Amino acid sequence: MNLVLLGAPGAGKGTQAELLCENYGFDYISTGAILREAISKGTPLGLQAKALIDNGHLVGDDVVIAIVKERLETRPCESGFIFDGFPRNIFQANALSEITNIDCTLLIDVPDSTIYERMASRRVCESCGETLRVGMNVASDTEPCPKCGGKLVTRRDDRPEVVKERLKIYHETTEPVADYYRQKNMLKIIDGTLSPEQIHKSILDALNLKQR
Ligand code: AMP
Repeated sequence: MNLVLLGAPGAGKGTQAELLCENYGFDYISTGAILREAISKGTPLGLQAKALIDNGHLVGDDVVIAIVKERLETRPCESGFIFDGFPRNIFQANALSEITNIDCTLLIDVPDSTIYERMASRRVCESCGETLRVGMNVASDTEPCPKCGGKLVTRRDDRPEVVKERLKIYHETTEPVADYYRQKNMLKIIDGTLSPEQIHKSILDALNLKQR
């Protein structure tokens, strides 16, 4: 089964993808994570994408489509894939339909006001890339990463002015992707304001999967 997770930045797609991958053997493809890794390694792709990402703009369609194609070719996974952050617009959705089949799309629905609050407390570990929330996973951002002891930082694209831009782009270009899948009867809407465990349960129900 191949799944697409849709939702605003900070809706909890990464957290839910992690739970699904751990328990059901999906392979996780986050175009954002692949691009961030390229930036931290200073590869030509990273150098090309950095300014766009830092300012909340989308990277070119040809670049992300090539990333996804390469990833599927080099590491096929029989249990299926979870796409997070891709497709981000209708052009990418059409491209994905030519690359592989999609069985279901889940929209994790969270109001903008909640997204702003969540992004203000989101931190990432500079060393291992773990995403954490201050007040939930750590008491303060001066604490070391609980996973590897690394330093916790705010993603440059989680600054409030950039979050505003990312939400604008989300509503303008990514929300139509939800309609694209709705029209194909492939969209399930999940209430993303609940706890991560409750959201996971709603996703399992939507996919007819048994809790593991
Ligand atoms: P994310 O972690 O999914 O929020 O992605 C972080 C940033 O990476 C986005 O704000 C974009 O700049 C870029 N990005 C990730 N996925 C895509 C995509 N499918 N198309 C264009 N840009 C993307």
